[in-house]
Amino acid sequence: MTCADKQNIANFLDLSADYLSGGYKSEPREYNFNEEPLADMPPQNSKNFSAHTGDPLEQIAAEIKACKNCRLGETRKNAVPGEGVNNPVVMVIGEGPGADEDAQGRPFVGKAGQLLDKMLASINLSRKTNCFIANVVKCRPPNNRDPYPDETAFCAGFLQRQIETLKPKFILLVGSIAATTVLKAAERVGKLRGKFTEYKTDNMAIPLLVTYHPSALLHNEDYKRPAWEDLKLLRSEIEKQES
Ligand code: URA
Repeated sequence: MTCADKQNIANFLDLSADYLSGGYKSEPREYNFNEEPLADMPPQNSKNFSAHTGDPLEQIAAEIKACKNCRLGETRKNAVPGEGVNNPVVMVIGEGPGADEDAQGRPFVGKAGQLLDKMLASINLSRKTNCFIANVVKCRPPNNRDPYPDETAFCAGFLQRQIETLKPKFILLVGSIAATTVLKAAERVGKLRGKFTEYKTDNMAIPLLVTYHPSALLHNEDYKRPAWEDLKLLRSEIEKQES
């Protein structure tokens, strides 16, 4: 495939993303494609990778920190790969970094993050001991807008590799962006929450639950009760699996 072909496809995908995002028109972008066959190309941004320790999770984090695959890589201060323990009981997946997370390079550290930590603590979960916290997009969308479809698509491979590497016992999706992206569902959280489904990989089927995003709880008290019901449901399934 020539550079021109690749640029045409990229322009078409950008245009489609703009259309799907409600008519937003982004600046035309040059991608600097080169002509080598993919197999001969070095890993993307490999010159920026930090020293590879052999830990696959750190390797993914290093790739995320070096990633410039989409426009968010141009405006972020820090990429936010995620944090927590390996083989967690629960992997929590949110939407994307906000201003605090962008400043610190850590997930869920602002007001919503403090509430998330309290919600998890209420069912004996913590990013320090038995959870991993990540987002569908690893870089902050400017002004906290929703990530565009091409941005979630570029990050999807990172998230999938994180899940396959971490092998969480459960996945908790918080908020509609996480739910619709990971489940490829059109329904809102209100329809998806309250019941388990599965995240399937080639060799795993991980029980998955959807609930409201903590920032939704901060804005609307009405979501607190159903979110608490979801947490209790998660706790009881964890207990069943542990017994
Ligand atoms: N909201 C999210 O969805 N993720 C974060 O990391 C912070 C706020």
